[in-house]
Amino acid sequence: EVEEYMKKTPKSREFASEAHKVMPGGVTANIKSFDPYPIIMEKGKGAYLYDIDGNKYIDYLLSYGALMLGHGHQDIVQAIQAQMEENGTFLFGTPHQLEIEMGKKIQQLYPSMEMVRYTNSGTEATLLAIRMAYAHTGKYKIAKFEGHYHGGYDQVLLSVNPPVHAAGPSNEPIPVVESKGVDPYHEEHTVILPFNNLDATAEILRKRKDEIAAVILEPIQGGFIPAEQSFMDGLRKITKELEILLIFDEVKTGFRLGLGGAQSIFNIQPDITTLGKVVGGGFPVGIIGGKKDILMVSAPTSSSDVFDSSQSKKSSAKDVLFHSGTYNGHPTILAAGLATIKVLEDEIDQVLRNTEKLKTGICSLFAKRGIAVQTVGLGSIFNVVITEKEKIFNYRDFQHSNFALRKKLDFHLLTEGIYTKPLNRYSMATVHGEKEINYTLEAYNKVLTKLV
Ligand code: PMP
Repeated sequence: EVEEYMKKTPKSREFASEAHKVMPGGVTANIKSFDPYPIIMEKGKGAYLYDIDGNKYIDYLLSYGALMLGHGHQDIVQAIQAQMEENGTFLFGTPHQLEIEMGKKIQQLYPSMEMVRYTNSGTEATLLAIRMAYAHTGKYKIAKFEGHYHGGYDQVLLSVNPPVHAAGPSNEPIPVVESKGVDPYHEEHTVILPFNNLDATAEILRKRKDEIAAVILEPIQGGFIPAEQSFMDGLRKITKELEILLIFDEVKTGFRLGLGGAQSIFNIQPDITTLGKVVGGGFPVGIIGGKKDILMVSAPTSSSDVFDSSQSKKSSAKDVLFHSGTYNGHPTILAAGLATIKVLEDEIDQVLRNTEKLKTGICSLFAKRGIAVQTVGLGSIFNVVITEKEKIFNYRDFQHSNFALRKKLDFHLLTEGIYTKPLNRYSMATVHGEKEINYTLEAYNKVLTKLV
């Protein structure tokens, strides 16, 4: 299959070799590396990506889920242009109306987010969430789940994708550092929990309740393995009881399961929520929000009490949580985000229906050949997991699925014009219609016939 890939992508190969001269590994995010070399894309339009060799792909990666309206959506383009023309500047360096408009939209769709702050990425949002949890509780450790990703910094870059044999017992995973250069201090200071195992999680939290400020999690692990409802209910209960904050990292799930994210599906109110990806309309963004009494720790001291007398109770900067950023609440990006939400308000149900269609179609093509497969996921994201297991509950279950066949499948699909990264989840957009779904299923059929 590699020969076929190389035959179709000679220019990508050439450019990839140039890329190696300017970026380590030829990429600017390690996850973008690809064997034998990545395809170099040139253009995106609707559901499609076009590479520099002129090949066309249906895009199911969608920039790791960020592009829920597909590529170059007219409403986003218009919103950005209007915003720029009207205001004559890209940045104000002051509060502005779109920050308020977006904030109100978020309050309406995510009632647990009583107040918000803007950041420039999901990473920054979770980083700030953790600092807020420290500030609010006076405790300085966090607990995260094995297999969950929250950004690339030291406190959370543990046990995201660990080799199972080195990750400790399944009910009490040990912290595994995921990068060179991470301060080993964090192995002692970040607690790792087993996802979807309430009893084991509760036991660890009980033991360490005086150290742990917050539990952070992806309500849908990796965007596709859902928490069990009973697990979520139990986690909310135990964290409340132990005075540990609960942080929902909805950077992937926000707007993708329904407009209100995973919290609306599970009917759970986390203390803090982080959003990103879809809400930037393709531009860098993060939003953090939560209970007012937690978020207010970042309100600066003020000598006047025109708006809120509680602010003046802080006597010095030391009482305030520091949060800054030149580009926070960038007007152009918020305009793109608001345009995205507006389209989704009309079209999300269609995306959810189409996702089910594609999932059902894929399952039946495998079933016809007697191969056990599951399309694991909720809302507009799913993953194709080839496994005999009845259900996938966590990272370890996924690791034990048939990666070899899945990787082969992904590679062949790529040469048929279906774009995903090997083993990656599928994200759907408003622009994936009947035509794209049918084409995808035909490609699956063709490739499966070849492979099994
Ligand atoms: N949290 C989750 C759940 C994510 O999926 C991601 C990005 N994949 C992040 C945080 C980090 O977001 P960003 O890449 O915007 O920094």
